[in-house]
Amino acid sequence: MPIPDLYTQGIAQGWQVTDATTLNSGAEFSADVLIIGSGAGGATSARILSEAGLRVLIIEEGGLFTSTSFKGDEANAYAQLYQEGAARTTQDGGIGILQGRSVGGSTTVNWTSSFRTPDATLQHWADVHQVKGIDSASLAPWFEQAEQQLGISPWQVPPNANNDVIKSGCEQLRWHWATIPRNVRGCANLGYCGTGCPLNAKQSMLVTSLPAALNAGARLIHRLRAERLIFDGNRVSGVQARAMNATLNQADGASITLRAGHVILAGGGINSPALLLRSQAPDPYNRLGKRTFLHPVNFSFAQFEHRIDGFYGAPQSIYSDQFQWAQGTTGPMGFKLEVPPMQPSITAALLGGHGSQSLARMEQLAYSNLMIALMRDGFHEQSTGGTVILRKDGSPTLDYPLNDFLWQAVRRAWLAMGEIQFAAGAIAVAPVHAHGRLSRNLAEYQAQIEQLSYRLHDVRLASAHVMGGCAMGEDPQRAVTNSQGRHHHISNLSILDGSLFPTSIGANPQLSIYALVGRLASELRDELTA
Ligand SMILES: Cc1cc2nc3c(=O)[nH]c(=O)nc-3n(C[C@H](O)[C@H](O)[C@H](O)COP(=O)(O)OP(=O)(O)OC[C@H]3O[C@@H](n4cnc5c(N)ncnc54)[C@H](O)[C@@H]3O)c2cc1C
Repeated sequence: MPIPDLYTQGIAQGWQVTDATTLNSGAEFSADVLIIGSGAGGATSARILSEAGLRVLIIEEGGLFTSTSFKGDEANAYAQLYQEGAARTTQDGGIGILQGRSVGGSTTVNWTSSFRTPDATLQHWADVHQVKGIDSASLAPWFEQAEQQLGISPWQVPPNANNDVIKSGCEQLRWHWATIPRNVRGCANLGYCGTGCPLNAKQSMLVTSLPAALNAGARLIHRLRAERLIFDGNRVSGVQARAMNATLNQADGASITLRAGHVILAGGGINSPALLLRSQAPDPYNRLGKRTFLHPVNFSFAQFEHRIDGFYGAPQSIYSDQFQWAQGTTGPMGFKLEVPPMQPSITAALLGGHGSQSLARMEQLAYSNLMIALMRDGFHEQSTGGTVILRKDGSPTLDYPLNDFLWQAVRRAWLAMGEIQFAAGAIAVAPVHAHGRLSRNLAEYQAQIEQLSYRLHDVRLASAHVMGGCAMGEDPQRAVTNSQGRHHHISNLSILDGSLFPTSIGANPQLSIYALVGRLASELRDELTA
């Protein structure tokens, strides 16, 4: 039976959805609340505010791509659904950055892992970053609500063999492992979450909160980029936006003016601070774009005698926190161990390399496992993250210097991943490094790790978790917003997305955003409807 396309049906029934490329320059729109960005934070806010009867306008620079257009075709999906065609990197090219750019934001392409914010992270924010009133107990009802709305529960189906490497290796070593909760309903275990779910099984913002908001009367304009906020004293008086071009790589179309009593910025890490920088928003203490975190990820590649087929099945279903908090919240950098999906294009890109070595590895794809360590950046004084800066054309890039503190974690993570992979029966393991080679046993692998060069471009690093850059906290000298996500210097501006986090999360961030924004947007609703 064909899967009904929610948007075709909804638009036929009167949803207000507009493609900005059909608008003429000079058009103006107004609303009670303007939301910039339709991802985890923007869509959650849109649902809450529009269901309260407020007139909500959501704008999104990406296009509207729906279940009908999701074909598991990597080449098209990365070009259409990701920031900079999935080729975004840090300024020096040291870390590849995957970030979504379509209706639903990164939630349309994410891999469905859904963790609550660790208690230690929230405690650290209260202790060190003066975040007030946001603790595990007060967030618990918001986690529960998001979990119910988005069908979040531990994945019941046996893990695919790629994830099973973590489980069986950790069992052998008596290390921690657990099943990952996922936001899915009726998932057929296809494994192509990263190219958009063709079954609407992934409970992304595209199929949950945005339809709810549209049902409640919200208007969505896609392919429209907010270029600049216009300020009048300490208020945003309007937003200048431009339609994107056909290939979605430039905003050179119609100029549109947007006005609203309240503005919510939800463009995600990098893009939210970038819009404020472009707009020359007040930033007396030079905080904007600072402390942007990535959970930088390094990779360990293993070959097995049996098929792994890591391109099929729920991409992430098992994790290990053996090394996450073992040395305390603020000790040497902790890391979470997971696996990524292994479709051919993304795997080839992540593995890097070229020529005969690349060919030999890709020929073994079906027999290969890739493991990732997500570094918990932002908790130690030597881990200050990156800084968003603007290029000459106003587009953002992230300056994220790599230092020895991070390299030490990379080294420890390689040792841990290799040990798990060999314990799970790998016949050969290689660190994903410019000079990494396959080692046939653990001792040889460990010796290799100690001899590697730890420097820019030699170590392959990537991220799918952009956080921070508009940190919250009570002290305006250290934070961009207060603990309600309200800009310290602009009275009618809230920032409600992952850029609020004062550190990385230490777990995949989407559920942290749903719960935190669920609460903050509800408080804003109460204020705006009082
Ligand atoms: C491949 C991938 C896999 C991931 N897997 C997981 C996972 O398994 N579990 C997990 O917890 N997290 C995962 N994440 C991360 C998670 O999806 C994000 O942390 C989360 O969606 C961020 O929410 P956000 O609201 O901050 O931004 P986003 O969801 O990224 O939404 C921001 C939106 O704003 C739009 N925008 C930006 N600037 C403008 C502008 N100026 N004008 C108009 N629109 C604008 C963007 O195009 C984008 O659509 C993954 C991410 C990726 C890319």
